[in-house]
Amino acid sequence: MSRIIEKMYVDGQWVESQSGEVRELVNPATEEYLASVTEGTIEDTKSAIEAARRAFDEDDWAFSKARERAALLLKAADLLEQKIDEISLLETLNNGKPLRESSYDVSDAVDQLRYYAGIATKPHGQTFDVPDEMTSSVVREPIGVVGQIIPWNYPLVMAVQKIAPAIAAGCTLVIKPAEQTPLTLIRFFEILDQVGFPKGVVNLVLGSGKTVGAELARNELVDKIAFTGGTETGRAIMISAAQTIKKVGLELGGKSPNIVFADADFETAVDYALYAIYANQGQVCSAGSRLLLEETIYDKFVEELVARAEQIEVGDGTSPTTEMGPLISETQMNRVLHYIELGKSEGATLLCGGKRLDRNGYFIEPTIFTHTTPNMRIVQEEIFGPMLVIQTFKTEEEAIRLANGTKYGLAGAVFTSDVAKAHRVIRKLRAGITWINTYHPTYNEAPWGGYKQSGIGRELGTFGLEAYLEVKQINVNLQVEPTHWFKKRQPKTNETVS
Ligand code: ADP
Repeated sequence: MSRIIEKMYVDGQWVESQSGEVRELVNPATEEYLASVTEGTIEDTKSAIEAARRAFDEDDWAFSKARERAALLLKAADLLEQKIDEISLLETLNNGKPLRESSYDVSDAVDQLRYYAGIATKPHGQTFDVPDEMTSSVVREPIGVVGQIIPWNYPLVMAVQKIAPAIAAGCTLVIKPAEQTPLTLIRFFEILDQVGFPKGVVNLVLGSGKTVGAELARNELVDKIAFTGGTETGRAIMISAAQTIKKVGLELGGKSPNIVFADADFETAVDYALYAIYANQGQVCSAGSRLLLEETIYDKFVEELVARAEQIEVGDGTSPTTEMGPLISETQMNRVLHYIELGKSEGATLLCGGKRLDRNGYFIEPTIFTHTTPNMRIVQEEIFGPMLVIQTFKTEEEAIRLANGTKYGLAGAVFTSDVAKAHRVIRKLRAGITWINTYHPTYNEAPWGGYKQSGIGRELGTFGLEAYLEVKQINVNLQVEPTHWFKKRQPKTNETVS
């Protein structure tokens, strides 16, 4: 039986790669064949970038009207909303995450489209009261052609949170999904095609990071590169982007602390400690992968935490009772298993989990390590899997010191019933996304991004729109007459003018 080969979307056309290469995808819950997609090359990427450049510079998308762009985004939102069930199921088949998480993600993407449709038409200029007879003002203009590189942990929603503000701003774009998870973004591009964007405004190139991704970061026709993924890849992209002084937006890794004081609501803190690390199998850049426990509640907390972790129903995400799915790939599973072995060899104590499930699919048990020291690699490095490490503290100062004790600064939470203490601790966390008495909820209205080596810039909210806009000052003279800064002299009479 001949297999359908999913195509890329370049300059308003569905195309196969110029190389003819094909990538086969498997369902991570079954290891069975899922789909075939065309494998884009550097040449395909260049064609897409050139189309985006032409759409921006010559076809006048740069001067399209905010209302028109808002209408396109709203139409895309409506069409995506009609397909929530179908696209959520596809997300689960491709990525593995449980259906309840996929459908949340797709609904969130719908909301992002509507949010940025709304904001596109809102005022974002400024005027200044200046000392001369001038009006001085600022307008914001689209950055131009943007390259967008997406990870595999939130394949659709992370893509839409880059596409929607770029379109609202008036940019044109070339987007690359992770090679493992292109399917929902391909379906979304079918929607964008149906919505009727002018040719070249939105382009989808499939393929590897080392070819397609690297070309987006390098190509001088691209004005900005927006990337979500690991810190090492982010560093490589930034180095490459530096050659052409591209704007960069980087949403990178984390090793985020979840701090629980003895006076916290016990049930709530246990509940969120589980959610912080095991949602999306721990493949979340903002995961609460370090649990910092006040020593006096350590025994009681750990006993309940382990009991609850062992009850988590791990399985195929398409089953309605599944609470945690498989990891994305064999590579990622082996990476996590490697860290589990490393934790043991570093001298930490394995409290629960630690093994692959004895079945097909890339499943790993919810895993917890304790008796760690701050310099262990399992405490310092991002693992991106269902593996929690516990640290303990005696005082508020020690909690803050441990919390800030990694190179990352993406997220962090504190659980306590002391309001003042909660605020003191949050203010001292060097992190961009924080919570008090909760973990993980964030909103499209609020900025997303990290301190330190967790990234550069912010996505979402008004900050996310700014990330796709340039700032231009315009000064208009209200007294149109010479300044005579340089004197006007009569030409010398003995000189002949030829
Ligand atoms: P992982 O290693 O877990 O796949 P990455 O952060 O490397 O995570 O991948 C996130 C995204 O970055 C993917 O779309 C991937 O293809 C892309 N990518 C990987 N390497 C590069 C690179 N050198 N340049 C540009 N993009 C890359």
